[in-house]
Amino acid sequence: MVYTSLQSPDNRDYPYELNIAHLFGNLMNTYGDNGNILMLKYVAEKLGAKVTIDIVSLDDEFDDNYYDLVFFGGGQDYEQSIVAKNLPHIKEAIGRYIENGGVILAICGGFQLLGQYYIQANGERIDGIGVMNHYTLNQENNRYIGDIKIHNDEFDETYYGFENHQGRTFLSEDEKPLGVCIYGNGNNKEDQTEGVHYKNVFGSYFHGPILSRNANLAYRLVTTALRNKYSQDIPLASYDAILSQEVPEEYADLKSKAEFDF
Ligand code: GLN
Repeated sequence: MVYTSLQSPDNRDYPYELNIAHLFGNLMNTYGDNGNILMLKYVAEKLGAKVTIDIVSLDDEFDDNYYDLVFFGGGQDYEQSIVAKNLPHIKEAIGRYIENGGVILAICGGFQLLGQYYIQANGERIDGIGVMNHYTLNQENNRYIGDIKIHNDEFDETYYGFENHQGRTFLSEDEKPLGVCIYGNGNNKEDQTEGVHYKNVFGSYFHGPILSRNANLAYRLVTTALRNKYSQDIPLASYDAILSQEVPEEYADLKSKAEFDF
C-alpha cells in the first residue's frame, strides 16, 4: 500500500532513490510516531533522494531486496497482539534484511516486537519476531512516562525524547543500547540503558517523534541507507549544510548552547 500523499515531487532531478517500508503502519502509529516518516522523507529529499513509502501490513510480503529503510512504530497492547500473530510471515525476510545491514528505526512497541517476547500489561505473553535477542517484561500498575535524555558514546551524540511505556526491556549481550540515560527511565529503570543499536537497527522508546527532535539521528539513518544502496563514498551534503541551519533565527542563541533541556 503506497502512501500517495507522501510522494516526492516530480519536478526535480534526484540522483538517488530510497524505498521506505512502514511496517504495520496502519496499526502501529501511537503518539505521533508517523512524524518519523515525514522526517525521513524530508532528510532524504534534502540529500537528493526520491522516496517511495509503503505501508507493509498484515499478510503483505516484505521484500528485503527492495526496501532500503524500515520504520516500525509504537502501538497499544491490543494492536501489538494482532501484529504479533502476523510476524512469523515476515520473520525470515526481516532477519535477512537486518543481518545484511539494512537500516531499521523501531520505536516502543515496534522495538519490543523485534525481540523475543513482550509481556503485556495484563500479564499475557506475546511472541516477538525473534530476530533480535532482547525481551520485554511487564510491570505492576505503572508506566514510564516523561521526558528523557540519553547520550550515545560511540557517536558522541545526545538524543531527547518523551517516553511512555509499560514494558521493561532487557538487552542481550550482542546488543548495545542506543544511549545511556542522563535522565528518564529508559529500557527498564535498572541498567541506565535506552533503546538498542545492533548492526544498522536503531530501537528506542522515544516518542516526540524521535527524528524530528533529533535530526542528527535522522541524518545518520538516511545517509547509512544511501551508502548501503549506492556506495560508501557517494557525495552527500553534510549535516551542517542541510539541517543545522534549519533552526529559526529567534532560536539561534539556544542552538549555539549546543544542547538545551525542554
Ligand atoms: N504497549 C507497549 C507498552 O506499553 C508499547 C507502547 C508504545 O508503543 N507506545 O510498553
